[in-house]
Amino acid sequence: MEDNKNNKTDAREISRKKDLEGVTFQYTAPVNFLLERLVLLGMFYAEFDGLKDYFYSDSKCIGCGTCERVCLSGKIKMIDNKPVWQKDIKCDMCYACLNYCPVQAVQIKSKWYMNSYTEENERYPHPYAAADDIAGQKRRRKLNENKDYSSFIHW
Ligand code: SF4
Ligand code: SF4
Repeated sequence: MEDNKNNKTDAREISRKKDLEGVTFQYTAPVNFLLERLVLLGMFYAEFDGLKDYFYSDSKCIGCGTCERVCLSGKIKMIDNKPVWQKDIKCDMCYACLNYCPVQAVQIKSKWYMNSYTEENERYPHPYAAADDIAGQKRRRKLNENKDYSSFIHW
């Protein structure tokens, strides 16, 4: 269990470092170091503060509801045929909403610590997992939440 937790933390750290690879500051070494830490802090804040105003849907949105269906955390709710990212629900950072929107309408807002290039960039859904497969996982997760597994656990 502890190993899993450490692996997850390591993976996050590696992923953040990768995000920083494209960011180069042209100041003195200490200033660069501080700016890099600030970028990481911004990412950390965005991730754990429920990603306030992180995603949005642009005018290409056709109201199909795919983003809501693939959102495993339940953060996205369709309201008046548009997705709304609920501020009080934590995001799993799976990026399924962004990658499975059929018309590439889901974007990430640029922040002071991070430029977003989602408007011009392509999307990268899993090659073997369709939106329906992910939505199916969500249904299964909900079913499992209501199950009592205590009789299967033998100490
Ligand atoms: S998946 Fe895309 S088009 Fe469909 S509701 Fe979400 S943002 Fe709009
Ligand atoms: S990144 Fe994943 S968990 Fe977060 S809002 Fe999008 S689909 Fe939901």
